[in-house]
Amino acid sequence: LMQIYRPLNFIGFVYRELRQGLTDIEEMFKLLDQDPEITDKPGATPLAVSGPVIRFEDVTFHYDPDRPILKGVSFEVPAGKTVAIVGPTGAGKSTISRLLFRFYDVTGGRITIDGQDLRDVTQESLRSAIGMVPQDTVLFNDTIGYNIEYGRPGASEDEIREAARMAQVGGFIEALPRGYDTPVGERGLKLSGGEKQRVAIARTILKSPSILILDEATSALDTKTERDIQQALDEVSRNRTTVVIAHRLSTVVNADEILVLRDGQVAERGNHFQLLAADGLYAQMWNRQREASEAAELLARTQEDP
Ligand code: ADP
Repeated sequence: LMQIYRPLNFIGFVYRELRQGLTDIEEMFKLLDQDPEITDKPGATPLAVSGPVIRFEDVTFHYDPDRPILKGVSFEVPAGKTVAIVGPTGAGKSTISRLLFRFYDVTGGRITIDGQDLRDVTQESLRSAIGMVPQDTVLFNDTIGYNIEYGRPGASEDEIREAARMAQVGGFIEALPRGYDTPVGERGLKLSGGEKQRVAIARTILKSPSILILDEATSALDTKTERDIQQALDEVSRNRTTVVIAHRLSTVVNADEILVLRDGQVAERGNHFQLLAADGLYAQMWNRQREASEAAELLARTQEDP
């Protein structure tokens, strides 16, 4: 019997490995929504990071030549600071984060990190310097511990726990009967959007990149979840050069600079108070969002206490 069982067991092992491999590859392709023509140029050098300072200099970009998406965007993110990008859907916010990761090359102008044009450095070095917290994190069908460790394979248990604690998800995980060994994903524990984002933040804390790109989820969160996520984001972006595609009031208020993107151009820029005083597009967006969140809170309170 063992003679039959062993090969079957082996096939099961191969199948599981393959399945995991496929999940990783799918995840990679989703993440690398990139132009296949992007390659390292001959003699590309590794990115040397000191600050790092990010500069967009008169950047233009289109996916399709008939339709310009970015029309001369310039801004700087000083070392360790946070720039928030806000603006209506379709304005080109996510495109900016894709260009920074070099999924595509700019069609005009240039993007530099510490003075080095992204097209002159190796992609591997660029991507290892950048941590990305996407809007919707795909978790692997594995344990929650593995999903955090993925940020830095080989990290110790203590490091994983510390990252989870900093990301405000440690308490939640430790309260699970199987703790860090709890399986998640399709056939495991289902996490809410806010919990998944905190797992992604924990992963990024472990990776410890010097540049951070955050894409905040647009979905409404309750006040406590929003506060937890904000704390996690503050922790991960501390002393890191950060670009955040921002939807939350708490994030934009704390940003060092806010860019209001409209139709592929920077329509307004300044900090929260300067932009409110300017009484333009930002002030309108702010007032609309504040009314919406006040209404949501009022609704939540009436539901708690009818
Ligand atoms: P935002 O993040 O501000 O909502 P995006 O940067 O995602 O805006 O998109 C800007 C514009 O570019 C949108 O009109 C969108 O339809 C278009 N776009 C985004 N990705 C692609 C793509 N891969 N190919 C063609 N057009 C795209």
